[in-house]
Amino acid sequence: MAVATREYGLFVNGESAEPASGETRELTEPATGEPLARVAVAGEADVDRAVEAARAALDGPWGKTPPNERSRLLHALADAIVANRKELAELEVRNVGKAISSVKAELSQAVENFRFYASAIASIAGRSNPVGGSLLFYSLKEPVGVAGQIVPWNYPLMMTTWKLAPALAAGCTIVLKPDSATPLTALRLAEFAGEVGFPPGTINVVPGPGPTVGAHLVRHPDVDKIAFTGSTATGAEIMRLASDPIKRITLELGGKSPNLVFADAKLGDAIPSSVWSIYYSAGQSCEARSRVLVEAPLYDDFVAKFSELAGSIRVGDPLDPETQMGSLISNEHRDKVHGFVELGREEGAEVTTGGEPADGKGAFYPPTVLARVENGMEVAQEEIFGPVVTVIPFEDEKDAIRIANDVRYGLMATVWTGDPARGHRLAARIKAGTVGVNMPYTAFPGIPFGGYKQSGFGRELGLETLELYLETKSILVSTSPKPFNPFGL
Ligand code: NAD
Repeated sequence: MAVATREYGLFVNGESAEPASGETRELTEPATGEPLARVAVAGEADVDRAVEAARAALDGPWGKTPPNERSRLLHALADAIVANRKELAELEVRNVGKAISSVKAELSQAVENFRFYASAIASIAGRSNPVGGSLLFYSLKEPVGVAGQIVPWNYPLMMTTWKLAPALAAGCTIVLKPDSATPLTALRLAEFAGEVGFPPGTINVVPGPGPTVGAHLVRHPDVDKIAFTGSTATGAEIMRLASDPIKRITLELGGKSPNLVFADAKLGDAIPSSVWSIYYSAGQSCEARSRVLVEAPLYDDFVAKFSELAGSIRVGDPLDPETQMGSLISNEHRDKVHGFVELGREEGAEVTTGGEPADGKGAFYPPTVLARVENGMEVAQEEIFGPVVTVIPFEDEKDAIRIANDVRYGLMATVWTGDPARGHRLAARIKAGTVGVNMPYTAFPGIPFGGYKQSGFGRELGLETLELYLETKSILVSTSPKPFNPFGL
């Protein structure tokens, strides 16, 4: 069936479900403005139903599913993504507007992510250490319980897999809330999970508005843990909401990541990679390197070459395999991004390429460069979340580190230098969860990803992510033949 004609329900207890209110929402394609699908909008009663199903699965069949079977099911879900990759890719492209070349890479990562956690299950183990005398100690790892997971619109499928895979590996059950504008691939993934054998209730998907449905999920007394990816402002609200009743949280938040280019760098690598690092996914990436810091003697030449390359990016139909950058998520978001460019002009930045919304239908915005930016400007401090880069000069290594760290975020940084020792020095001194040295890529299954400072806490994609979905239970046993009688009574 063509994706454009389908209606999507919620996914609760292993099947498509009508929302209690009967409310639906029509989705349009951001790149064309054409209708895409009609999708159910969850309300609080639907969250309650989903949490009940997740609890029942945890107390029932999923709670009894041994690790080797969980591993097999994770591989089966990875296989299902591979088998249905064309449908998933088209759905994601039409729903988000991003280029299919980018979505294909995200799909591969989604597959590898399930496979990584399918293997990582083998690392879930308690321990035993000597405590002396007749005491035996051992610990058990148990799933935290029902996990509420909230994901944003910028990588709907990939973020969903980042959340689902470790939670399922750990043995949790899940109520996932995608953004109500981009729920389609998460809903399809949940259907595939049902088809490959995950018991009903293990994965539930309830798209709906954040401040009502999302907040209800966070406050729900029968949800044990919240894993959130989204903006820093919403993350702060989640922390408040999760304090009563107290529950475990992890937060993957915003970024304003630096990309440092030293005069000794191989510019033939650094310039195209720096262009890619901001404009892939149209700059709507948490770890987009949106502050390019350039050593002063190189600055003018760098800006000229960078701007020329940025201006040559192929922007257009996101379903065309030759397209490098699709549309933004919506016209409203495009206007917000343009507002930042106007602000940059007012603050004294020079627009060297782009800077005006494209004519015609669709939420397109061209790759834009703001040069002559100082790090204190609002455009250098706030997450623009669009194809807009700020280029800032620095004097020397010390100055570069100061500017790189002079921001409230700390998600990612990239350093371009011909001096390996300098690369290691900067990696140690930049406050970010990931630092790439002469390497633009950011996220790989198996390599922990997450933030310092207001970019959040907790890590995804790594072995340590499993710990965030596990409790450690310590068992103490007396092996003495004598009765254990501490008061000697
Ligand atoms: P957002 O915070 O507005 O929304 C994220 C999700 O939270 C959505 O599902 C939304 O419905 C929900 N939500 C909103 N208010 C809520 C509330 N009060 N209670 C519960 N849920 C609520 O963010 P966005 O604009 O959708 O996404 C972009 C942001 O996400 C950017 O800041 C980006 O940097 C960040 N992000 C971070 C990472 C990471 O790994 N660190 C990855 C992707 C995106």
